[in-house]
This record gives sequence, structure tokens and C-alpha cells, in this order.
Amino acid sequence: MAIKRTLIQGGQVYDHEGDVHKPAIGDILIEDDKVVSVGANLPRDGVNEIIDASGRLVVPGLINAHYHSHDTLCRGLFEELPLEIWLLYTLPMGGDRSKEEVRARTLVGALECLRCGITTVQDMLGLSPLNDENTDVVVDAYRESGIRVVFSPMVWDIPPIGMVRHKDSLPLDVQEMLGNKPRPIRQQFDYLEHQFKRHPAGGTLHWAVAPFAPQRCTPKMLQGCAELADKHDLAVYTHVYETRGQVLIARELFADHDGSLITYMDNVGLLGPRLNIVHSVWISRSEIDRMAAADAGIVLNHLSNLKLKSGIAPVYDMRQSGVRLGLGCDNCSGTDVQSVFQAMKMFCLIAAVSEPEPGPGLAHEVLRHATLGNARTAGLAGRLGAIRPGYKADLILIDLNDVAYLPYNSAARQLVYTEAGRGVESVMVNGRMVIKGRVVKTIDEEALRREVASLMRHFIADYDAMLQERKRALPYMLDAHRRMWEPDIGMDRFITRRP
Ligand SMILES: [Zn+2]
Repeated sequence: MAIKRTLIQGGQVYDHEGDVHKPAIGDILIEDDKVVSVGANLPRDGVNEIIDASGRLVVPGLINAHYHSHDTLCRGLFEELPLEIWLLYTLPMGGDRSKEEVRARTLVGALECLRCGITTVQDMLGLSPLNDENTDVVVDAYRESGIRVVFSPMVWDIPPIGMVRHKDSLPLDVQEMLGNKPRPIRQQFDYLEHQFKRHPAGGTLHWAVAPFAPQRCTPKMLQGCAELADKHDLAVYTHVYETRGQVLIARELFADHDGSLITYMDNVGLLGPRLNIVHSVWISRSEIDRMAAADAGIVLNHLSNLKLKSGIAPVYDMRQSGVRLGLGCDNCSGTDVQSVFQAMKMFCLIAAVSEPEPGPGLAHEVLRHATLGNARTAGLAGRLGAIRPGYKADLILIDLNDVAYLPYNSAARQLVYTEAGRGVESVMVNGRMVIKGRVVKTIDEEALRREVASLMRHFIADYDAMLQERKRALPYMLDAHRRMWEPDIGMDRFITRRP
């Protein structure tokens, strides 16, 4: 087949190693899905398409390293809920939904990501039931949207109630509401192996392995995940120490593993370069050092951690340890936005909580985390995260005529502190223009709007019924939440008032 050559001409090309404030003007030559050269005045010979990027900042596509598409339609429905209570309300809105709804929610999330300059999204999907039909709907929707996805349907064998400390003190019907049925292990691994074969990785589809959380998985389940990741050369993502309660669960239920979820993962063979732990709000300094020594990574989600009242991840300790870092946007009902711009800005601002001295995190550093760092989480280092020869052609064109750049003093700082997504004019994924001149080329936005409006009638009726049914659980969940703040765990960073 003939090679397709695209030349992006005359833009300011953001280079992590170059002048991050005033990137040099240059051209980018793309052959099919890859960048082949970057430089001034590249020859036009044999070029099929020329994209004029004058007055544009050309930036490596942003990567969203933590997201769940299952509750996209819950955007704006929740406020002020701590994580465990929020789970009580959101989990039922993601499982056992119609094919039409699964397709629409996947497209909505993909569309929002693309509009915000995200070219790769890691979807840690709570898919229920785990079957071929549901999987096809999600994979097809992602393919249709054109976004690159690192897809990891979540697996677990300990039911959702495992997220709550002192779960046995809850009435049985409240335990049932949260979910107290285990899932068989073998069936889930068979499902994953089967999907890897049915939809082989390639193009814009990548797979990862996602055990929900260590406290939601038996050693056998986690060992299986480690083996599966090794066998297929995949990254692993799992939620760790999102809330204070999870430290107490570790201390109380994982005493055989030094009371540490990091030791637990080490003991089952999961702690290593493939592993990424998501959140880590309540991780200790020694555990961070062990993560760094193992070349395991942390994916930060400050926005959802704050909205769900979990706390603030210890970024100072993380920076000191040198552990590799990524950034995510998390759920649409727990953030409620897919914007790496917001995540980057929050990463830099949060430094003030622990670091009153001048210094990091700086805009050009967080841009590395959101591109190169996030690519590394997925095992895609050297392929994604920069505009360099040999890298995938995943990039965004930012309109420097937007008022965010009036005046224009620094690319890195204005991307991180000023850009809200409004300046994202064109988006290329895998060498294909998915958004061009603010027009989405892949998804029929109007049709999707109509489809969502129609689906929401049924969805909101289900939501209202669920709220009614679960109201009974609220006092018990609130009590469980308060009790997790009682014991002293020796790392109460930044907490000034306890319930
Ligand atoms: Zn999550």
C-alpha cells in the first residue's frame, strides 16, 4: 500500500528538551501513523497533505492515565459525597446497562477527551456483564471515535463491599446494595484472554490488566493478573490507598503482609515495572520508596481525590523519592471532567500545600508527566508522549489567537495555567485528523446529542429509583466513613478538622 505523507507546516513545535516557553517554528513530516522528521523547512516532495500550522502551537497529544467510561452519564449528578458513599450510588448506574447506553457513554467520554486535546485514554472499565457483546460495543465505539485507548476491563474476586472497613457491622441489605457477591477468577481470565485474541492490540487499541484494588482481590487473583500481564507484555493499573479507610483495611486485614498493600502486591509478584497504582493519597514514605525502587508508577488524580473527600496525595515525598508519576482525570461523576489541563494545573498548585519554598511542580515538568510519564504507565514509552521521529503521530494544534495566549509569554506555563481546552483546534491520532478546525471528523455530534437525550429519560428514572432505594444505607455508610477517621495512623497530612 502507498505510504500517506502529511506535512504539518510552520507551527511552534513543543519539544520537552527544547525551549518550553517559546518553542521553535518547524515542520513535522508524518508517514502513515508515525512522525518521521521534525525540523525547519522540510521538503514537500511526495507529500499528500499539507496542514498549515502557522499561528499554532503543536503539542504532543495529552494522555489521560486514569478514567472509567462506565459512569460518564452520571456527570453532574453527585456532589459532597465521600468515596464510599459515592460508590454506593455510582456503581449501580454503570452495570447491566443497554448496548445503546454503553455505546453512547463510551462515545461521550471519547468526544470530551478529544475536545480537550487528549489523544490517549486509559479506560479502566467496570464492565458488567463481562461478555463479547459488551466488549465489542466499547471497542467499536473507541475505534469509531478515533481516540487511542488503553483498555482494561476491571477484574476482581472480592465483592465491592471489600472497599468498606468493618463491612460486617453493616446490615445485610446494605451489604447487598454495595455488592457482596464474589466473582469467579478463572472465568474472568478466560474472558480477558479471549478478548485479547478477538481484538488484537494494534492501531489505536492497546490492552492493560486492571485488578480493581488489592483489597478486592485474593492472592490467587493478583498472581493471575501478574502472570497475564507478563504473558501478553501489558501494563497493570490498580486503585491503591485512595482513602484513609484503605490504610486501616491494610493494617487490619493484611497483617501477614506487614499491614501494607504494597507488600501484599510484592508478595504476589505484582510489584514491578509493569505496575501503576492509582491515587496513593494515603501511601507512606517508605512505601513510596519501595515503589520507586521497583520502577513501579503512581497515577495521581487530585481532582477526584478532593471532590470525593479522600485527601491530598503526598506529592513532595513522591518527588523526593523519584518515583515515576502520571496523571489521570478519573470518573465523570467524581471529577467531573476529562481535562488533563485541569489535572496539570492542580498538580502544580497542590505543591503549595507541602512546599512553601519556591520550586516544583513546574509547568514544563507536569507536561512531561501528562505525556511521556503517562505513556510509560501504559508500557508505551518511546512510542507516545513527544513529537519526535519514530513516535506515533498523536498531536494537538492549539490556536495561539485564543485569548489565553494574549499576550503569549510561555507555551508551557500558559498550557498548564491558562488553557481550559478552548484553544484546542485540531487533534491528530495515529496520523489521522480526528478534529480539524474544531470540527470532529469521526463522531456525529448532533446525532450523539439526540441519542443521549433520549437515553437519559430512562437513565434518570433509574437513578431516581436507585437513590430512593439506597437512602436507607446512608446513615450506616456515613458512620463507617466517620469511623475510618478515628484511629491515629501517623500520617495525617493536611487534615485540620476531623469529623
Ligand atoms: Zn478509578
